[in-house]
Amino acid sequence: MKRIAIIGGGASGLSAAAAAASFGAPVALYEASDRVGRSILATGNGRCNFSNSVVSADDYRNPAFVGEVLARLESASRRHVASQAEPSTAYPNGVLGFFADCGLVWREEGEGRLYPLANKATSVLDCLRAACAAAGVEEHVGCEVAAVEPPRGEGGRFTLRLADGRFERADAVIVAVGGSIVSSLLPVGVRFRATEPILGPLATEGSIGRRLDNIRVRGALELWRRDCLVSRERGEVMFRKYGVSGIAAFNLSRLAHPGDELAVDFVPDVSANDAEAFLNRRRKMLRSRLGRDVRWGDMLRGMVLAPVADVLLHAAGLEENRLVAKGDAPRMAPVLKGLRMKVTGLGDARQCQVRRGGIDVGAVDARSCELRCVPGLYVVGEALDVDAPCGGYNLHWAWASGLLAGWSAMEVWCQ
Ligand SMILES: Cc1cc2nc3c(=O)[nH]c(=O)nc-3n(C[C@H](O)[C@H](O)[C@H](O)COP(=O)(O)OP(=O)(O)OC[C@H]3O[C@@H](n4cnc5c(N)ncnc54)[C@H](O)[C@@H]3O)c2cc1C
Repeated sequence: MKRIAIIGGGASGLSAAAAAASFGAPVALYEASDRVGRSILATGNGRCNFSNSVVSADDYRNPAFVGEVLARLESASRRHVASQAEPSTAYPNGVLGFFADCGLVWREEGEGRLYPLANKATSVLDCLRAACAAAGVEEHVGCEVAAVEPPRGEGGRFTLRLADGRFERADAVIVAVGGSIVSSLLPVGVRFRATEPILGPLATEGSIGRRLDNIRVRGALELWRRDCLVSRERGEVMFRKYGVSGIAAFNLSRLAHPGDELAVDFVPDVSANDAEAFLNRRRKMLRSRLGRDVRWGDMLRGMVLAPVADVLLHAAGLEENRLVAKGDAPRMAPVLKGLRMKVTGLGDARQCQVRRGGIDVGAVDARSCELRCVPGLYVVGEALDVDAPCGGYNLHWAWASGLLAGWSAMEVWCQ
């Protein structure tokens, strides 16, 4: 019987394996490390933000390609996922239907983030492994695949060259190796873009990061390029010695270039137009409460932490003990609404959650994730040049592309 090989036992590889094997096709999964699913256990701080309640192709790099994959997944899931066959039982998308049918129960947190109800990534991995085991997937751990060679002639098979010198054969192959993909894994000529880390902290010039190291602010972060606003993210901003971390910084790292500027908004609920009036109202209020003239130290106390106040005063050219004068608000308002720092690059590449690049989506048929130039060879997950912000979108992509490729490979190669 024809055999499907999956290379990589992470998010996309396990979902591809469960899908490909679901109707009895022989499926072998090759994982380089000593166990499958390690990458899943590390996600969402060990809780696995496995999807989002609202997923749109526009959230992703290469949205036209992603949109076609997600649409194809919906029609495939109506054929292969029991809950999705009937509108009365269907979940909002095929990925959630697949997980529901695997027995996973989840709950929603802020901004639509979905987490397993058990609040542990192991819960997601256990469901996937049980689905693979029930479908008879053979797991080969400690098995790094060094190269995939296409069939030599009509009716031939793929050869998987293992790093230890052995080889394996398969009729169809799904490459699910994540962002560590190297071009030498695939046959010569497959369009490949060198990978680079993204979705991580940003490094900034100057001493602000060092002075505010480890301080967290519930504010907003803006990315500016040559006086044009590129993007704004609300949420936690965490200062680090080298710059800025936290989800807002991670998301902006997908768009930032060295030389861009970050602006930290410490009062996101106050509009830029109202910021001066807000400071004047605060001065009046404090003067009546304190029964004396108000100093800049009074103005910032209780609104921001003392080290932040020092940095803001320095940036505005004001001093803590200075009495607040009428003309001061226009100096402090822009700093409070947008303390500027110049981006120099990524802060710490080891903290980056994904790698951008990999297989060019133009080389891939979005109806199945099969390479156009090598029939029977599929690429899924982060190995493709697709990435998205934090919020469960990257794992959603891994599951979605893995499931589509798994079902497609099984339908085409094992009938
Ligand atoms: C710390 C961290 C937290 C994250 N949190 C979230 C989150 O909460 N939500 C979210 O949506 N995304 C999150 N992500 C991103 C998410 O983990 C990835 O987008 C997703 O795992 C990609 O799935 P994948 O299957 O393509 O690759 P991976 O999950 O990385 O799996 C690839 C697998 O292939 C194996 N492999 C590699 N090369 C070979 C080879 N040559 N032969 C055999 N096996 C090989 C690897 O060992 C690995 O097991 C996080 C990432 C990190 C690093």
